[in-house]
Amino acid sequence: MSIVDTPERRQLRELTRAFVTREVLPHLADWERAGEVPRALHATAAKIGLLGIGFPESVGGSGGDLFDSIVVTEEIIRSGGSSGLIAALFTHGIALPHMVAAAGGQSGGLLRGRLGGGQLRGDDDLVDRYVRPTLAGTMIGALAITEPDGGSDVAAIRTTARRDGDHYVVNGSKTYITSGVRADFVTTAVCTDFPGSGELSLLVIDKGTPGFTVGRRLEKLGWHCSDTAELSFVDVRVPVTNRIGEENTGFLAIMQHFAAERLSLATQAYATAQRCVELATRWCRDRETFGRPLASRQLVRHRLAEMHTRAEAARAYVHEVAARVAAGEPVVTEVAMAKNVAVAACDQVVDQALQLHGGFGYLRDAEVERHYRDARILGIGGGTTEIMNEIIAKGMGL
Ligand SMILES: Cc1cc2nc3c(=O)[nH]c(=O)nc-3n(C[C@H](O)[C@H](O)[C@H](O)COP(=O)(O)OP(=O)(O)OC[C@H]3O[C@@H](n4cnc5c(N)ncnc54)[C@H](O)[C@@H]3O)c2cc1C
Repeated sequence: MSIVDTPERRQLRELTRAFVTREVLPHLADWERAGEVPRALHATAAKIGLLGIGFPESVGGSGGDLFDSIVVTEEIIRSGGSSGLIAALFTHGIALPHMVAAAGGQSGGLLRGRLGGGQLRGDDDLVDRYVRPTLAGTMIGALAITEPDGGSDVAAIRTTARRDGDHYVVNGSKTYITSGVRADFVTTAVCTDFPGSGELSLLVIDKGTPGFTVGRRLEKLGWHCSDTAELSFVDVRVPVTNRIGEENTGFLAIMQHFAAERLSLATQAYATAQRCVELATRWCRDRETFGRPLASRQLVRHRLAEMHTRAEAARAYVHEVAARVAAGEPVVTEVAMAKNVAVAACDQVVDQALQLHGGFGYLRDAEVERHYRDARILGIGGGTTEIMNEIIAKGMGL
């Protein structure tokens, strides 16, 4: 039996599919036009336990492990949702794990934290103020690392936080921040030494704090139902109690949780590929050209066979790497390879799936059109394909 095919996980799959069918599919096109998902969706997902999957019950989560999170991610996309929906509804997957880990917990899902545990100053309070309400669907969080000057070089972050008594004074700006328009709080990477020193810390900054402004909603190629924002900080006073973990531990925390985000993006990539194989197969069975179904042509059958093979191979490799992550192995290089393998499979499959749909594939009415646009970000977010290759090359001793 496959690790994701246990009776419990089959049930989790059914729960997820029912949620998507009932709560998402009738509205997704409207949310894509509106540029965001409604807050009520967070509460609904929380009520049935989906929002908290992968987070321990001790911090308000639903429990479950890495493969439970994988099952939810796979099923959201395979039942007609999208990676954009995951980005919008599960942004807490990147906004919260640092807080959970610093408080001594472990977020066990794709966003598993490995900060070393231990009871650190003030962090239980952060769990009560931010983690619990977010997992209950009453707050929305975001993670802000990327800056206008660059995202790949995290150590070069220029947003500064200068200590002033019981507060930090934050100055700088962030961009491309997922859920930044709607977020009630932002887990923000700041430099707690001179800009570019790489001495980073993570501060939780509340919306409404004087000097913190949310800029324009950024318009994008894909992920239309996921709001994306620029953020500006001018002399923003943030209580020291809103710091996650010790000062200058931010870089390590970001890197540790990047690995989890990358596995999540890899899962979204192969699940998108699988969904597109399903859509294209259905289309090719039904669509007739020159008096015969497309699927009766050997060329088309072989193309579908190759797409299916590519998606399944990516899935198998990501699962293998995930199993090693779950076992606690240090597999930074393998996680980078898993992301690149899954993204390459996805890129190729969504392109061919759209092609097989002909003109209809290019229309907004076609689900494959949305996946084609949404897929493009997977090789950029959470570390680009090139940065993954840098990590892999380093792992090879180059
Ligand atoms: C829709 C969307 C949502 C996002 N959500 C978030 C979010 O929630 N929070 C957040 O913090 N960020 C977010 N990002 C930002 C994302 O993580 C960055 O865009 C990404 O890390 C790349 O950074 P950059 O855009 O600054 O590109 P750059 O770092 O400027 O890189 C530009 C190009 O150069 C390449 N490159 C860079 N360095 C090297 C090198 N050494 N060798 C070879 N090639 C190199 C890159 O691969 C890329 O192709 C989001 C972005 C988008 C588009």
